[in-house]
Amino acid sequence: MTSIIEKGFTVSGIGLHSGAKTQVHVLPDDRNQGRYFVRVDLPEKPMIPATVSAVNQTLLSTELMADTATVRTVEHLLAALTGCGIENACIEIDGPEVPLLDGSAKNWVDAIIASGLNPSEMAVGSPVIEPVWVREGDAFVAAIPAPDIRFTYGIDFPYPAIGNQWVSWSPKTEPFQDFIAPARTFGFADQIEQLKQAGLIKGGSLENALICDRSGWVNPPLRFDNEPVRHKLLDLIGDLSLLGTIPQAHFLAYKASHKLHIQLADILYQNK
Ligand SMILES: [Zn+2]
Repeated sequence: MTSIIEKGFTVSGIGLHSGAKTQVHVLPDDRNQGRYFVRVDLPEKPMIPATVSAVNQTLLSTELMADTATVRTVEHLLAALTGCGIENACIEIDGPEVPLLDGSAKNWVDAIIASGLNPSEMAVGSPVIEPVWVREGDAFVAAIPAPDIRFTYGIDFPYPAIGNQWVSWSPKTEPFQDFIAPARTFGFADQIEQLKQAGLIKGGSLENALICDRSGWVNPPLRFDNEPVRHKLLDLIGDLSLLGTIPQAHFLAYKASHKLHIQLADILYQNK
């Protein structure tokens, strides 16, 4: 459910991991404080900055924390704001997790475009001068010096529906809202039970995630042939947005995760 209010918008829905219904109210903020959350359901209404140093954990989603207040699964909303060039925003939320909506950033982008937030091309920060990377086994994320910002992502899953996929995106040539935002999150039918038993994905459903099993997609059709890897790129943009403005570099990731995305963002933050 989305409603457009004067200079901002309100969206409500279910959180993927908590299953909790929350309402998000995004407001412009011209005080140049970057993007930040406000837990309006808690006493004192604590502010949680959307910055690298506020990351609390990265298990299957990115969670931010300030003092004891947390907000989880921030990556799709933050990617939407960043992809639409919204560098400053006050994000009021009345619970612990951002709604998953349809599993992509499409609803967020639609709301931004319909609101008074004036979307523009993604802002680009200072150039990265030396290559930086993090790795775990054969998974990695790197930031390579480049004349323009670019994002390239590869994944390889032992499910025939996905297999090996790549995508490369430049904000200068393809709009975020068409090329990246509609790509939905994805999961595997044979892991659902295990994740539920671990207390995760309580709000997961066939309406908010693409699910595949060994024989193919359980809930087609896909929005893009390579929708899963485009979604990973969406997650990467959401995680890198915690730097404030994403620096100018070619970001190259393979089989990475929120954990590796944040580790790279951490190094870039320290090099600032
Ligand atoms: Zn995601």
